Amino acid sequence: MSNAEPRETITPWGKMSMAWMAAHGDVPLDPSHARPAWACTGCFGCRESCDHRNPVAGVLLDARDALVRSGVAPEASLRVLRRFADHNARTRAAARRIGGERGFSTRAPPDALLVGCGYLRAARREAAEAVQAATELAGEVAVVPDCCGLPLRLAGDRAGFAGHARSVARSLESRARIIVVDAGCALALERLYPEAGVALAPTVELLVRLAARSLSALSPVEAPTEPIRWHDPCQLGRGLGVYDDPRSVLARVLGGPPAEFDEGRERAVCSGAGGLLPSTMPDVARAIADTRLEGHARAGGGRVVTACASSLLALRRRARGTGVAVDDLVTWIARGLR
Ligand code: SF4
Repeated sequence: MSNAEPRETITPWGKMSMAWMAAHGDVPLDPSHARPAWACTGCFGCRESCDHRNPVAGVLLDARDALVRSGVAPEASLRVLRRFADHNARTRAAARRIGGERGFSTRAPPDALLVGCGYLRAARREAAEAVQAATELAGEVAVVPDCCGLPLRLAGDRAGFAGHARSVARSLESRARIIVVDAGCALALERLYPEAGVALAPTVELLVRLAARSLSALSPVEAPTEPIRWHDPCQLGRGLGVYDDPRSVLARVLGGPPAEFDEGRERAVCSGAGGLLPSTMPDVARAIADTRLEGHARAGGGRVVTACASSLLALRRRARGTGVAVDDLVTWIARGLR
């Protein structure tokens, strides 16, 4: 954030200080003093650089919740809250379409697949590939119809998020495992649901981890003619600590390790797509995505591969017209399974 928009107020220190001062009545509770709490993609970059592992992103989510209740949240965030019921209804319709299209039985297989609202609603090809890949790796899966609820937590409604999480958890009680495509959804299920007091009955497994455990099921595709560069999505890498599995999967499918950014793994640069930033501060979100794409060009260009719907859509949008293609890892998993 503060690399893209170098202002002291939106450094991690500035945002934490502002949240503290707002909580203690040292600054007026108004939209201008509330705004810094939304100037965060939740990329965990500052926690990674901090000797104390200070959880800035989580604290700012709590600040958002308090600021929403004080009536000073940005309109873009309130819009997300107002529209969440409609968003979930549209996600359910998209999930039904994809489940129906692929002829899923209405029986209850032990595995459920959480594709994620971003893929279901805005990256339908990748959503279909995710269903195909999960089915081939795990057998029959039931597509989870709901959004995981993360937008509610990001927009500052902790109680609403907990309520939605409880309802999703109830709908999954009969499953043994939930396979998750999107790293943001996985982080919500694994970290934010327990924080909200919601326990999930099934185990949670990322699709990329399942693919990495099943490497022998994947076959190399025809040797690519351009570099295929792996972008570590923040929620997958710094969030969940998953760095090696996507690289193993790509190495298997590509016949050799993927190309790397200069800043990769723990030091990877964000795509700017997290934390609702594209809604609340779209110019900064675009600037962050552009910085990542400049890093891609500096490192040698080619295709970018990521593994979360937000970064896929943000990088793809900004790469339009530049000749750079942006793929999701599910596309390469599905190709390796064909
Ligand atoms: S989590 Fe990322 S965007 Fe948020 S304050 Fe830390 S470094 Fe900045």
